[in-house]
Amino acid sequence: MCGVYQTIAEWLSKAQFAIAFTGAGISTESGIPDFRSPGSIWATSTPVLFDDFLSDPAARKEYWRQKSIADREFSAALPNVGHRVLAHWQQTGCLKGLITQNIDELHQQAGSQNILELHGSARKVTCLSCHQSWESAPFNQRFLSESRVPDCPECGGLLKHATISFGQQLTPSVLMKATQWSRQSDLCLAIGSSLVVEPAASIPRVAAERGVRLVIVNREATPLDHLAAHVLREPIGTALQSIDEKLQQILTSRR
Ligand code: NAD
Repeated sequence: MCGVYQTIAEWLSKAQFAIAFTGAGISTESGIPDFRSPGSIWATSTPVLFDDFLSDPAARKEYWRQKSIADREFSAALPNVGHRVLAHWQQTGCLKGLITQNIDELHQQAGSQNILELHGSARKVTCLSCHQSWESAPFNQRFLSESRVPDCPECGGLLKHATISFGQQLTPSVLMKATQWSRQSDLCLAIGSSLVVEPAASIPRVAAERGVRLVIVNREATPLDHLAAHVLREPIGTALQSIDEKLQQILTSRR
């Protein structure tokens, strides 16, 4: 395995435009369950479809119930070693862009910049009419104590977390930029994603189909494994730390 870490570290040290694509798996080591694990909060409640949110007050209440409970359980989660290694690679220029499906803002908390959040952020709420945004925490707390769906404080419009719900389109400008990065990349790391949610999974696929080296770090098999130059089936924190040790040796030897 040592040789694989060395190889990936060498690729990272030479890449001109390396990108990372992350999913829920990178945050499990921070205590936030991923989407597909049995018994996780996401697996035990039926997600509210965007159209139902718009048309049905009962669905809006169920949506706010689910989001507020998730916030209560996970808002104290902190970035883990995986988030921190990626932030460090960005700061040292080894990683140019970070594309995430996660809605927890742990990459930002770890110090990452230049992030594309494909599925938005649960840490904010946005009015669907006037498009103003606020931190979500006070709204979640009020919902938990009053059980009443909040309206936009400015215009009275529908207030929704700034995430992409099932049945809701991704923000075109964000998806376009992510696709552009994927086309521009010369190395792509796909970390902690089952790579089945579309169109997000097309980001690493587009890169691999162009012949760009794809490295997958995920403890389960994914539909893109056959396209990957290397697949690391091990805990993300361990894998990224092991690559980072080799990378730091390479960078030090160049100084
Ligand atoms: P997913 O749940 O479909 O896949 C996560 C993958 O990560 C799984 O294959 C799992 O085996 C792997 N994994 C989990 N922990 C790991 C670890 N420590 N080491 C190695 N591998 C590990 O997640 P997805 O592909 O991101 O798609 C799910 C959707 O759910 C996304 O749209 C995302 O927005 C949303 N979601 C986000 C969060 C979050 O923000 N933290 C959490 C749950 C769901």
